[in-house]
Order: sequence, then C-alpha cells, then structure tokens
Amino acid sequence: MTDSFVYSQPVKIYFGQGKFSHLDEILSELKVNSAVIACGRHFAPEAQRIMDEIPQIKGIFSRVEANPQLSGALETAELALSAGADTIIGIGGGSSMDTAKFAAAIACGDTADCEKYYHAEKPFPDRSLRIIAVPTTAGTGSEVTQVSVMSNGTEKRTINNPVFMPDVALVDPVLSSSVPPKTTMITGLDALAHALEGFWSIYHQPVSDLMATESVRIILSVLEKAYLDGTDMEARTDMAYAALLGGLSFARSKTAASHACSYPLSEDYHMPHGEACAFTLDSFVKINADERLEELCRKAGLEGTAELASKIHALKKLAGLKMSLADLGDVDLDKLCRDCLAHPLMANNPVSPDDEMLRSMFLNLET
Ligand code: NAD
Repeated sequence: MTDSFVYSQPVKIYFGQGKFSHLDEILSELKVNSAVIACGRHFAPEAQRIMDEIPQIKGIFSRVEANPQLSGALETAELALSAGADTIIGIGGGSSMDTAKFAAAIACGDTADCEKYYHAEKPFPDRSLRIIAVPTTAGTGSEVTQVSVMSNGTEKRTINNPVFMPDVALVDPVLSSSVPPKTTMITGLDALAHALEGFWSIYHQPVSDLMATESVRIILSVLEKAYLDGTDMEARTDMAYAALLGGLSFARSKTAASHACSYPLSEDYHMPHGEACAFTLDSFVKINADERLEELCRKAGLEGTAELASKIHALKKLAGLKMSLADLGDVDLDKLCRDCLAHPLMANNPVSPDDEMLRSMFLNLET
C-alpha cells in the first residue's frame, strides 16, 4: 500500500537542448524589467554576449568560484540593487546558482546584515528577487531546491530556506558540453548521491522515490559515456535530466550520511563537493542495504546493492578520484569522525552510525 505523503514543487522547469537560446522570450514571459547575471569565469564571455543582445540584462558578476564566498553573493546583491533589478539569473554549477539565490534573498533585506543572515542571527526577508537558475553542470540539482550552500572564509554552511527556491529552472544540456571529464564525473556522482540519499533518507516518500529510482537508473547507464566523450549530447542530455530528477528527489526528502561526511571532507581536505560525497557513497550503499534498496537496484537494471556499490567504486577509480584516507594526506581521524557524526544531515540516514562504525568505514575504504 502507498504511504500517505505531501509533495510540492513550485519551480517552472524548461528542459531541452537549445532552450537557453530562448532566454529572451522567457524573460519577456515573466515580465522581467531588469536582471543581472551571477556566473563563474568560464561563462563570462557568453554572459557578456547575452547582455549585449538582451536589453533587460543590466549587469554581470562573473567572479563566482567553487565553494562560493559570501562576499560574491553580497557583490551580486549590490549590483542587482544598483541596476534596479527584479531578477537574478544564476548561470553555472551549483556555486553560481547558490550565489544567485543568496543574493536574491539579501537584496530584499538589508545587505549590510549579510553575515547575520548567513549565521542565522537575523531571519531572511520573506521574499526574494525573482531567481532564474541555469545549470551548466549535471550535478547539484540546485535549480530546483530551496538550498544555498555558501562559504565564509573556510566555513561552509548549507542554508535551507523557502526564499531560495528558484522561480524558473532553465536546463539546457548543451551548456554542459564544455565540462571537463573529471568535473563531469564528480558532478555526476553528486547527482547519484542526491538520488540515492533522497531514496534512503528517513524523509523519503513515494514521489521522490520514483524520481530517485529513475535518476539512479539513468546515471548508471550514461555517466561513464558522458565522462569518456563530453561531446556525446545524448549522454549529456540524459545526465542533465537525471541530475534534475535527483534534485527534485532530495529537495523534499533531504540528503543523509554521505552528504554529512562531505562537509568535513571539503572543509578540511579541500575536496570538491561531489568527490567528497562520492568518497563514502559506496560504503553507505553497503551500510544502508535493505530490501527497498535491493528493489531500487533491480529497477535500475542491477542485480543488487553489491553491484551498485562496485559500480560506484569503478566510476570513482576510472576518473582517478580520491579513494582512501591515504589519498587525503595527514588525516585527523578522531576529528573527521566527530565532525561527520555532528553534522545535522547524519540524522536523516536510515542507519545511525556511531564513532566505531565510521572509523572502521574510513579505515577500510576500498582502493
Ligand atoms: P561548481 O559550480 O563549483 O563548478 C565546478 C567547476 O566547473 C568550476 O570551476 C566552474 O567554473 C566549472 N564549470 C561549471 N560549468 C562549466 C561548463 N559548462 N564548462 C566548463 N566549466 C564549467 O560545481 P558544482 O558541483 O556544480 O557545484 C558545487 C557547489 O554546489 C558546492 O558548493 C556544493 O556544496 C553546492 N551544492 C548545492 C546544492 C543545492 O541544492 N543548492 C546541492 C548540491 C551541491
């Protein structure tokens, strides 16, 4: 029997190859008067071209970096305010979309209190500027979540607030064709972690299960192809769709243990987000294995959880990702376990790890 559930999803999604070339029509449809773009360096020339062509676009902040800094969101908000913008368009990976989301919220409040919002010392305004999220990686699903992950120096915080929910997700797989192979693998494994954790999170529900299962099925059949040949637009398109489904899945059910462990791994050992999630993902497949997960595996065309864990392991190895503690350099295992266990997302995992379990997991990672 199907469990009772609540599901809502407020983002209007435009999906398909070439959809980005309709940005001007979408802005007109939304009655946008003035917009600014937040993006990283890789997209800066294209952003300039768009600004030259689309009159509503009045400014560009093009210095978003990986693990985006709060100062970038503040600059974007100030740019939006000086341009009288009603919309912020985040174009890039999760870093650019999250910068746009945070900026859109504080632009409706007091930008001088940027750090207070960040540290939850002041509530966010109850509305934001309009947010258009345009992913150029197939990974985070940030285009459909109410999450913004921002860093302030070395501190990295995940902030979950309805005010960050994009109004529009414009997903054009063509934009991801320039992602280098290693980033393709890292972001693709992030999407896989969203789908799996959205599935096994204690907050999972039937609609998110359905999207998670399909996301896992697609990723396992095409991620290797997208990694090996970035010009394979069929694989890129399937990955963009799978990442979107992963985002829709965890947007409601939240992530769990692998994401909890990813934060200390990113903060203390400088691992990119997706690589940090993937570091423990195959281990948590084994730890969380149960009849539901076996069924997901069968629906995804696998024999069972053992095959799922070994496929994840093989994908990491193929791309030369970090596999064991030895790859991290000098590790403070006591602190690593303590910080992983203390992360709030750990409470969403169906199995509650203790210090001994985590220690053993980290010491026995397969290389
Ligand atoms: P990213 O945005 O940091 O981008 C990674 C690198 O790829 C950057 O150097 C970027 O310039 C480059 N890049 C992006 N698109 C490119 C393209 N088309 N061609 C060439 N280069 C390109 O990476 P990401 O994995 O997409 O995002 C990671 C961030 O998102 C982390 O901060 C993570 O914590 C956050 N995140 C947010 C959510 C959410 O729901 N808000 C979910 C998961 C992760």
